Amino acid sequence: MPSVEIIAIGNELLLGDVLDTNTHWLCRQISALGGRVQRGALIPDDPQAIAETLQAALQREPDLIVLTGGLGPTSDDKTLASVATALGRPLELNQQALAMVRATYERLAARELVHDAELSEVRRKMAYLPRGAEPLHNPVGAAPGVLLREGKTAVVCLPGVPPEMKGIFTTSLQPLLREIFGGGVFLERVLVTDCGDESRLAPIVNRVAAAHPRVYVKSRAQAYRKGRRLRITLSLSGTDPQAVKEAIDAADRDLTAQLAAAGIAVLERVEGG
Ligand code: ATP
Repeated sequence: MPSVEIIAIGNELLLGDVLDTNTHWLCRQISALGGRVQRGALIPDDPQAIAETLQAALQREPDLIVLTGGLGPTSDDKTLASVATALGRPLELNQQALAMVRATYERLAARELVHDAELSEVRRKMAYLPRGAEPLHNPVGAAPGVLLREGKTAVVCLPGVPPEMKGIFTTSLQPLLREIFGGGVFLERVLVTDCGDESRLAPIVNRVAAAHPRVYVKSRAQAYRKGRRLRITLSLSGTDPQAVKEAIDAADRDLTAQLAAAGIAVLERVEGG
């Protein structure tokens, strides 16, 4: 199963000003593609922290590392310079990226969303990429995404602004995602029980998880209230949709039987993924 690490960059995330929704969204996308996110890091806009975190991630040789944040034109946007340092590559003007930035500002100026289309120093900064990088068209904003290859790992840098991050991921990144994940699938099934006591569910969940090691089996804790109905999630990623469904079905049958033996009923099943 392809392995992925995510590095979310931004002081505002660590200050608690902004919730890191990018990592959550990326985790769901990658699970749905049949990949496994092994690790996520939340770090400040600090060149040393960025370089060290990326180097440590590269040593684990995941298939993909996604960084979000710090690609914009302002002086606190340090991601690409830090990535260049971590990879020991110079930062240089990338003509393809420059053309993307130019086209974006021409479009924005034509719609009077920015004052002019001039490629100022601040705007040109977004086209300085580590040597060997491939710029990724940003369908929403100005800063292109960036793809680099380092050994067996693809390193992708995306803007922090959620619609831009999602826009690049769902369009320009598709060829890379197909290359890494092939035709992966993710299946999730939620069983809603009539049980409100997690300690009654825990031994059953543990037994089913041990008997079906490929399937992720987890009860979802909730705040105590009268009449609460705890949910148990079964999920699995893989490349063969039929095999994924059969494994989930087998775990479901086992779980349902063990719940019934303990006097717990399954009220509803919600399929997702
Ligand atoms: P730009 O500087 O051009 O706006 P950028 O790529 O440099 O884009 P950041 O400056 O890091 O992005 O973040 C811009 C905004 O995007 C932040 O103020 C925040 O609102 C949002 N943002 C950044 N990172 C995240 C994240 N991990 N999850 C959710 N929102 C985020």
